[in-house]
Amino acid sequence: MYKDENRALAALLFDGEALRTIDDYEELYKPRETHDGQMITRLGPSPTGFIHLGNLYMAYINKKFAKQSGGACYLRVEDTDEKRAVEGAVDTLIDGLAYFGIDFDEGAGQGNIGNISDTDSGEYGPYYQSDRRDIYRTFAKELVLRGHAYPCFLTEEEIDQIRAGQEEQKRTPGIYKGYSKYRDASLDDVKTLIAEGKPYVLRLRAEGTEGEFRSGFDAVRGELKLPVNFMDIVVLKKTGMPTYHFAHIVDDHLMHTTHVIRGEEWLSSLPIHLNLFELLEIDPPVYAHATVLMKFDDETGKKRKLSKRKDPELSLTYYMQEGYHKAAIEEYLLTIINSDYEEWRAEHLDASTDEFKISFEKMSNSGILFDLDKLRDVSKDALLRLPAEEIADYLIDWAYRYAASEPELSGIYEVLSSDKPQLAQILDIGRSGAKPRKDLSYAKQIWEHISYFYDDFYKITDDIPEHIADGDAAVLLKEYIENHDINDDRDTWFAKIRELGTKHGYAAKPKDFKKNPDDYKGHVGDVSALIRLALVGKTTSPDIYEIEQIMGAEKVNQRILGFLG
Ligand code: GLU
Repeated sequence: MYKDENRALAALLFDGEALRTIDDYEELYKPRETHDGQMITRLGPSPTGFIHLGNLYMAYINKKFAKQSGGACYLRVEDTDEKRAVEGAVDTLIDGLAYFGIDFDEGAGQGNIGNISDTDSGEYGPYYQSDRRDIYRTFAKELVLRGHAYPCFLTEEEIDQIRAGQEEQKRTPGIYKGYSKYRDASLDDVKTLIAEGKPYVLRLRAEGTEGEFRSGFDAVRGELKLPVNFMDIVVLKKTGMPTYHFAHIVDDHLMHTTHVIRGEEWLSSLPIHLNLFELLEIDPPVYAHATVLMKFDDETGKKRKLSKRKDPELSLTYYMQEGYHKAAIEEYLLTIINSDYEEWRAEHLDASTDEFKISFEKMSNSGILFDLDKLRDVSKDALLRLPAEEIADYLIDWAYRYAASEPELSGIYEVLSSDKPQLAQILDIGRSGAKPRKDLSYAKQIWEHISYFYDDFYKITDDIPEHIADGDAAVLLKEYIENHDINDDRDTWFAKIRELGTKHGYAAKPKDFKKNPDDYKGHVGDVSALIRLALVGKTTSPDIYEIEQIMGAEKVNQRILGFLG
């Protein structure tokens, strides 16, 4: 079935390598026992050490599709680019994603030996591309046997020259038919060059012609008219390792990925990938390209891609340090992934996100706008769905991990963890009832909201309310404390404040004051604001009665006396 000359070339290029055959691998990696509709997805990150929002977003989509279909999502480390690999990057990635609730069903770093989790788990490994060299070489050899690949000995300088010439003639730059003198080199010439030790790459011998089109399918975009691939792309690099193009098609085939869901930046290479599958006579998985995350540039006001250099919020560590809860991040991701999510959420306020199924049809194909303010808003709703005890746990955990790195937060882990039930009570103030408070968004901001409670962090930031007449503040507060009884119910407590106010010339109701401002110094609201200022250091805060109940009589006394100085 193979031509003799191709056999001879394959024997030369893969001389002395005890490679298995494709059939051996097919036998080793049997199809998964999946029923209809179960999706096998994967995340294929390069271990560069920087995990960003895009990784999280892609990981979430892949995991969600797998989970909702009862399939599996695995982690494959795409580390064939030795220059980019960074020590420890895979752990950082796994930990970072796990922090936001994303784990994998199989793959790199998913196994456990004792308490070490740096082994792979699953039947389709190895899951590091660098450990799969022979597998790729077997498939590359097949391309050579079929006459679809050739060794190309062009040097960097020669390639530069070719490119310069192409630019001059306004031709598409690259190596393709007519540009590599090695495309049709004789076996003898190749033998000589190899004997001389000349380095080479293995290139695809593309059959397509520039300007021709083919069909293709993308689950987000539907049927596509794509340019055919006419580029002699590199299949194996000089090191003998594969390029991304080649490695991923081999892996997705042998690992039985049903859906390759990846970033839109790969859409333009889809023709290459489909071409490779065809040449190897393998069915491709379904491809789906998720659109990139964009933002409005502060300076130009125009939409642009998020950039590592300009946007600190691209890095996942930013969300960890600011303390976004994984439920908030999930909620936000769903709003940007599927256009009908917000509508669904409005109708299912308390439902678990597991009940919402994402679909390719509802995915955007034109640049999603990432909006930090929106995330903060969505986060408030998401936190409202969590019990206060859980928010307390997460706040303590956040303080433990991150507070030490910021001087103004030093010591907060100690105070927050000193009395967890009390912390939960503080967080829960005003969260029930028909109009619950929705002001808790992310850990750093939550801390700013509740720091008043802790003596070491209590500070007075507002002025005495303007209607409180000179000299009245001390009198009012002293009398308040004299008559204060922590056991009073809310009505009694408030009646006392009203009485205190009217005694000193403040209207019992704001509307009385509004009607006849000359008859009063101010109204009962001003008196409450004064009490609030003394207790929490600000004239706005959640319900003061509830705050006092949590503080207890002694602390209320101390705060007010302390305020009076
Ligand atoms: N290694 C590729 C990347 O980091 C993976 C793309 C894919 O998911 O196939 O972008």
